[in-house]
Amino acid sequence: MNTPSKKDITPNGPSPSPLERDGVRLLKQYWGYDSFRDLQEEIINSILAGKDTLGLMPTGGGKSITFQVPALAKEGLCLVVTPLIALMKDQVQNLRKRGIKAVAVYSGMSRQEIIIALENCIFGDYKFLYISPERLATEIFRIKLRSMKVNMIAVDESHCISQWGYDFRPAYLKISEIRELLPGVPVLALTATATPEVVKDIQQKLLFKKENVFRMSFERKNLAYIVRPTDNKNGELLHILNQVAGSAVVYVRNRRKTKEITELLVNEGITADFYHAGLNNDLKDLRQKRWQNNECRVMVATNAFGMGIDKPDVRVVIHIDLPDSIEAYFQEAGRAGRDGQKAYAVILYSKSDKLTLSKRIADTFPEKDYIKGIYENLNYYYQMAMGDGQDCVYDFNLEEFCRRFKYFPVPADSALKLLTQAGYIEYTEEQDNASRLIFIIHREELYKLKEMGAEADTLIQCILRSYTGVFTDYTYINEESLSLRTGLTRPQIYELLKMLSKRRIIDYIPHKKTPFIIYTRERIDLKYLHIGKSVYEERKERYEKRIHAMIAYTTSENKCRSRMLLHYFGEKETEDCGQCDVCIDQKKQSLSADDFNRIKDQIIDLLKDAALTPVEIAGMIQIEHNQLTKVIRYLLDEEILNMQDGKIIISKHKNS
Ligand code: ADP
Ligand code: MG
Repeated sequence: MNTPSKKDITPNGPSPSPLERDGVRLLKQYWGYDSFRDLQEEIINSILAGKDTLGLMPTGGGKSITFQVPALAKEGLCLVVTPLIALMKDQVQNLRKRGIKAVAVYSGMSRQEIIIALENCIFGDYKFLYISPERLATEIFRIKLRSMKVNMIAVDESHCISQWGYDFRPAYLKISEIRELLPGVPVLALTATATPEVVKDIQQKLLFKKENVFRMSFERKNLAYIVRPTDNKNGELLHILNQVAGSAVVYVRNRRKTKEITELLVNEGITADFYHAGLNNDLKDLRQKRWQNNECRVMVATNAFGMGIDKPDVRVVIHIDLPDSIEAYFQEAGRAGRDGQKAYAVILYSKSDKLTLSKRIADTFPEKDYIKGIYENLNYYYQMAMGDGQDCVYDFNLEEFCRRFKYFPVPADSALKLLTQAGYIEYTEEQDNASRLIFIIHREELYKLKEMGAEADTLIQCILRSYTGVFTDYTYINEESLSLRTGLTRPQIYELLKMLSKRRIIDYIPHKKTPFIIYTRERIDLKYLHIGKSVYEERKERYEKRIHAMIAYTTSENKCRSRMLLHYFGEKETEDCGQCDVCIDQKKQSLSADDFNRIKDQIIDLLKDAALTPVEIAGMIQIEHNQLTKVIRYLLDEEILNMQDGKIIISKHKNS
C-alpha cells in the first residue's frame, strides 16, 4: 500500500506543473478555499498523471474535491458514479451553485429527460455527468457515450463494487464494462470505509492497471468512543444529553421509535425532531435545516439521516440500537466532532441487543421460498403475464403490498432487495419528490404564442424570473413558491402546468410520492427463479460476520475502542486513545508504570523457560489477581505473548 508523504509526491526540485498550479487556482475560484487538505493534492496529482487511483478518506475528509478539481483542470466531461439519487442531486445542485455545469441521470427520470441530459453532455459543454450505476447498462447511455469526451471516471462510495463490502450493489460491476468502452480514461475510486480485502477488491473490479492507493488514517483524535451497558436506555440517554452540551444525533432502528424518543426528549425540555426515509422531502429539508442552524438540538433518526450532511459542531452521536456493521457504525459515529473539538460517540447497550442483532440475520435473509412467494405475489399485484414485463416501471407501495398479501414489512423489504440482487427487478426505496419542467419551445417562439390567458402568462413570466436554464434542462420547481409569487392557488398552478404540457410548450413532471419497481427482465416461471449462492449464501455469511464483529466491538472490555475500529480497517500501528471507556477504566484501576513493568518482566522471565497456563503464572507471582490479568491481557493484545494450546508463550517475532 502506498502511503506517500508530501515530499514523495511534490519534490522540492522542479516547480509545480501548470496543472498543479491550476488546481489551487480552481479551488480558490470555485470553492473559495485557500489550500488543499492532506492527501487531496496527492490524489489529484495521481489522477492528473493519468493513473488509476483509489483514495481512502474518512467521511468529511473532502473526497468530492479530489475529482471535481482535476475534472475542471482538464478538458472534457467527468463521469461520476454514485449510488444514491439524493446524494447525486445534492452534488449537482452544489456544483451549479458555483457556476459549474453538471447534470444527473438516474432511474425514475423519463426517457425524454434522460435524452436531454445526455445530449447536454455532448453539446452543452457540461463538466460533470452524475449517473446511477443501473443506468450505465442502458443502451441509450452507451450510444450517447460514444459522442462524449470523457476525461475521467469518478467512482464515489466505491466499496459498493465489492461483494466483500457491507453495501454491495451489483450494478456497480457495470463500471468495468464502461471502462472497456473508454480505453485510456483513468478512474478515481473513493470511499470512506474499506477493510483491506475490500481495498484490493475495488482495484481488481475496476480493472486498475496498477495498484495505487492513497490512504489517510481513520483515527479521530478528538472523538471518544464509549459503550455504555444499561438496562434503562432512555434514562441513560437523558443523562448523557444533560451532561454533554451542544448538537446531537440519536440513531435508532425504526421509524416509530424516532418519534417516540423525540417525544421523550421534548417532554424533558430538550429540543428534538425526528427524521426517516418515510417523511416527504419538504419536511426532511425543513428539519435538517433547523437542526443544521441549531434551532433544534437533537436529531433522532434512522440511518436514512446522514449521507451528505456536513455539520461541523455535532458534540455527540448516540446509538440506542446497534447498526449491523462496524462500517456503518464508524460512518455514523464519525459525524460527531468534524470541527476537531472534543466529541463523543456512544453506544447504549443492553443484554437483549445481542439477540435482536442475531434476529436481524433472519430478517435480512428470509428463506428462499419466502422470496419466491414475494416474486409471485408481485406478479399478481401488477397482473403481470408470463413472459411480459421487461423494462416496465411501476409505483410501489410496500405497506399496501404487505397489507394485501399479509407480509411483515421488514422481511418483505429484504426479499425485494434480494430479488434486485439476483437481477429480476430493480427495487428503489428512494423517493424522487420534486417536480420539474423544461420548456420544449424556444424562447423566441414563446413570445410569438397566441394569448393563453392572463394566468398562464403570469405563471410563465414567474417561472422565467425564478429559474434559470429552463430552456436547456429539466429544472426543479416548487409549486408552493410559484403560488406565493403569482398569487395563484396551488391547484391553479397545477392545472396551468398540465395545460402548458398538453400544448407541448413545456414538459412538466409532477412530483412522485412512492418508491418504484422496475422489471429488469420478463416475468419468469417460478421454477426457473434462481437465487444463487453469490446472492444468498455467500452474502448471508458475510452479513453474519459483520454482525458478529459489531457484537464483539460492543461487548469487548479490554481493548481500546479506537484501536479496535482502526484495526478492523487494517490499521495496525495504533495507540491507545486514552479517552474511550476502556482506556478510562484502565486508568481508574491502573497500576503505576513501575509496578506494571516489574510484573511484565517477571512474566517474561518465567516464560523464557517454559510455556505456562495463566493459573500457573498466578501461582508463581505474588500479586493481586486483577492486576496480573490486566498485564497478561495487555501483553496478549500487543502480541508480545501468544496463547497456544491453552498455554501462554512468548511471541517469536516481537522478541527475537
Ligand atoms: P467526503 O465526501 O469525503 O465525506 P466532502 O467532499 O463532502 O467529504 O467534503 C466535506 C466538506 O469539506 C465540504 O463542505 C467541502 O466543501 C469541505 N472541503 C473539502 N476540501 C476542502 C479544503 N481543501 N478546504 C476547506 N474545505 C474543504
Ligand atoms: Mg462524499
